[in-house]
Amino acid sequence: MSAPRPEQDQHVHDVVAIGAGPFNLGLACLADPVDDLDVVVLEARDQVSWHPGMMLDDATLQVPFLADLVTMADPTSRWSFLNYLKQAGHLYAFYVRESFYPLRREYDDYCRWAAEGVGSVRFGQEVVAVEHDGSAYVVSTARGDVFRGRRLVLGVGSRPRVPAAVEHLLGVDGVCHSADYLTHRADLLQRRAITVVGSGQSAAEVYHDLLAASPEHDYELTWLTRSPRFFPMEYTKLTLELTSPEYTAYFHGLPADVRTDLVREQRSLYKGISGDLVDRISDLHYQLRVTGHGPRTTLVASTEVVGGERTPDGVRLDLHHTETGEDFAVTTDGLVLATGYAAASAPPAFLDGVRDRLVLDEQGRFAASSTYAVDRSGQEVFVQNAEEHTHGFVAPDLGMGAYRSSVIIAAITGREVYPLEKRVAVQSFGVPDHLRVPS
Ligand SMILES: Cc1cc2nc3c(=O)[nH]c(=O)nc-3n(C[C@H](O)[C@H](O)[C@H](O)COP(=O)(O)OP(=O)(O)OC[C@H]3O[C@@H](n4cnc5c(N)ncnc54)[C@H](O)[C@@H]3O)c2cc1C
Repeated sequence: MSAPRPEQDQHVHDVVAIGAGPFNLGLACLADPVDDLDVVVLEARDQVSWHPGMMLDDATLQVPFLADLVTMADPTSRWSFLNYLKQAGHLYAFYVRESFYPLRREYDDYCRWAAEGVGSVRFGQEVVAVEHDGSAYVVSTARGDVFRGRRLVLGVGSRPRVPAAVEHLLGVDGVCHSADYLTHRADLLQRRAITVVGSGQSAAEVYHDLLAASPEHDYELTWLTRSPRFFPMEYTKLTLELTSPEYTAYFHGLPADVRTDLVREQRSLYKGISGDLVDRISDLHYQLRVTGHGPRTTLVASTEVVGGERTPDGVRLDLHHTETGEDFAVTTDGLVLATGYAAASAPPAFLDGVRDRLVLDEQGRFAASSTYAVDRSGQEVFVQNAEEHTHGFVAPDLGMGAYRSSVIIAAITGREVYPLEKRVAVQSFGVPDHLRVPS
């Protein structure tokens, strides 16, 4: 049921969801047909805009279209990607295209279509403070509006992260994080030298885009990564089984120190570059070599950025090679820091007013329960994509969004509105019961 226009102070929603990224949009779409569940979603932006700085024309999702907002929970939902294609008149073209992987641009448009259609998203509503008046959460926005809800679902996403050693360079002319790449692209193409720092998909997409443009431009192109190699994301099927409800439950049940080690060890499961793009970069190099446009480019792995400063010609990056132990430097006048994102694993400042109701670990991070609850009662405040440290690498994975929303809806309604799969993998995680030594 779509939420009525908000009355300033009186109406109490069942849920006030903060942030209309894919995860809370999924929650709103799954709540839509549930008569006794009144959800309102508050979004700071004026419309859905999914990673606009990386909306490269040929970029695709890294997950199949089934990882849309709703299908893994409810394949009959009107808010599915397939229904969006039908409404947009693209279904037959998508069928002929025969790819499981939507273009990033159409996924963005799909999210906008769902957000505008579902009726429960309030745009231009940046949440700035949350209090509790004894019966409900009182959520205030920068616009001066007030929304009330019995529960909160936090889905504010992650923030661009840059290495501390070069944080001071952000804002310098010619320097940007990959999150703003397309805003800076035209200026970067006019530069004498461009350096890309990072080992993930975004770094590779930016490098590939600049390499492809290099024949028309005369820049020196450098790609540096701290990783020991330009490694592909691990995508084999038994590994993909870790993107599952039972692996998430297994991970959540592990001791905290084991979880911390696993998150680090499992980097190749969610960081890294799609194997296809790694090969496309190599093939493009070959093509440019044969067509006599061999680019002036340098790719160096095992390289840590340890410092940097402005120079009359741009910026100088101080570097350390982690295998040879050598220190060296690169001077560049274009710099793209494709150095990832930091999840909002600790309460944002706007939750200060209800901090006493939250459960945090010794590092001040959300101590999320198995049902993604982060408040003392385990019934009131939930997180989406802020729980990598408790639930594992699948936290930002679009493929698990609908499942997590289903768990949260079950926790709120007290019933399994959408079936929660208990076991989907062939393999067992931990010691299988039938092999356990009886105690
Ligand atoms: C370029 C890129 C491509 C990606 N591609 C994939 C992919 O193909 N497959 C995959 O599985 N994962 C992918 N990811 C990872 C992840 O799925 C996405 O980051 C996803 O957008 C996370 O969704 P979210 O809902 O947590 O947050 P976000 O999409 O970041 O949305 C959070 C929303 O909260 C709003 N907000 C923040 N603070 C407030 C506030 N105080 N008040 C109100 N609103 C607020 C923001 O404006 C934003 O709209 C990608 C990530 C990036 C950066």
